[in-house]
Amino acid sequence: MPMTENFKNRLFPVLPEICDHFRTPFHIYDETGIRETGEKLKKVFTAIDGFKEFFAVKALPNPSILSIMRDMAFGFDCSSVPELVLTRRIGARGEEIMFTSNNTTIEDFEAALDDGGCILNLDDISLIEKLPVVPGLISFRYNPGPRRSGNTIIGNPVEAKYGVSHDQIRHAYKKMRDLGTERFGLHTMLVSNERCHEYMVETAKMLLDMVEWLSGELGIQFEFINIGGGLGIPYRPEDRPLDIEAMGREITKVFEAFKARNGDAPRLYMESGRYMTGPHGVLVTKAINHKDIYRKYIGVDACMSALMRPGMYNTYHHIDVLGKDLTETTAETVDVVGSLCENIDKFAVQRRLPKIEAGDTLVIQDTGAHGHAMGFNYNAKLRPQELLLRKDGTVERIRRAETMADYFSTLNFEKSAMAPKSP
Ligand SMILES: *Cc1c(COP(=O)(O)O)cnc(C)c1O
Repeated sequence: MPMTENFKNRLFPVLPEICDHFRTPFHIYDETGIRETGEKLKKVFTAIDGFKEFFAVKALPNPSILSIMRDMAFGFDCSSVPELVLTRRIGARGEEIMFTSNNTTIEDFEAALDDGGCILNLDDISLIEKLPVVPGLISFRYNPGPRRSGNTIIGNPVEAKYGVSHDQIRHAYKKMRDLGTERFGLHTMLVSNERCHEYMVETAKMLLDMVEWLSGELGIQFEFINIGGGLGIPYRPEDRPLDIEAMGREITKVFEAFKARNGDAPRLYMESGRYMTGPHGVLVTKAINHKDIYRKYIGVDACMSALMRPGMYNTYHHIDVLGKDLTETTAETVDVVGSLCENIDKFAVQRRLPKIEAGDTLVIQDTGAHGHAMGFNYNAKLRPQELLLRKDGTVERIRRAETMADYFSTLNFEKSAMAPKSP
């Protein structure tokens, strides 16, 4: 069940008018759906004191979307300085922002601690030396290594570049404690697009066990655990959705058991990107060419600059053709392709779709996270505009399409040259 019936009912009747007004291609996001998912997430964790979602900005870094998140009292997970600046522009400050960087520089830390600061989530023990000041509050990203298996997108923890190893984690907190840090959290991020809720329950349990151990060893208190993002969504019609209610119930039990043993429990933080916005966005594109060689190809007016996932991860995105139902008598097996000079520039491979004519509108689904944001300019392809379908039915352009001038902006500049001395 990729796109919900509700989103379809909101969008499809008005889509021809939206296409006429803004022209294709575009990603369009559904404010109503995003808010419903946000409220659902809060609801399943109401029994845990201080649950907070820090939206993973990289999934959909648009100020209009981030403002919706902030309106729901969510924080933000940033991993680069421009992402920090973006969240601060919409008004987020201090502990509303988590900075989860890796391979970090002193300049990154300086920017993170500037302008109201944020929660620093450190990726490595060696980064302690790069901190310009000793922060009052800190968390480390824990990498359990062989203690856990990861999943396909994010990989096996042993091979992942992220986090502090099990052998180093105690020392990492001890070092910060000895330097004078007084407030602590513990973070991990082990999976991506995981639809099995038990995995996240295990992660919460693992972190709370670590908290018990580290508190006992070092005499420090933990204010929060952050179980990361990585909650999955069903991209294929036959995919079973994540059972978020069961996840909420079981994590709540894990917290209650911790509280019974220790009298109190840390807050629960999470940093979902995909789960929050993935299903609430679609890429709308028009068929412009039809090609019949060894296979049938439908050429559309968007390309992988708008959506990298199929080419990069070989993933499935469901496609509807506006106004045409899929019936066996009319179906054709086609590849849906863009115009990039790369054979991986395909939105669908050998897909059964209703017979498509030039001018037909294709709705490529589940592009609300890691869609537009991942796009690139290879082959001088420009990224499309982003639209937002508001709760009241109005449609706003929240990012314009890139232009040639944008493409040339890094080439039109004051040239700088040097003549290396010969050895
Ligand atoms: C990418 C990322 C996320 C978000 O992942 P989703 O799969 O979109 O939930 C959260 N935390 C960190 C550290 C990330 O790198």
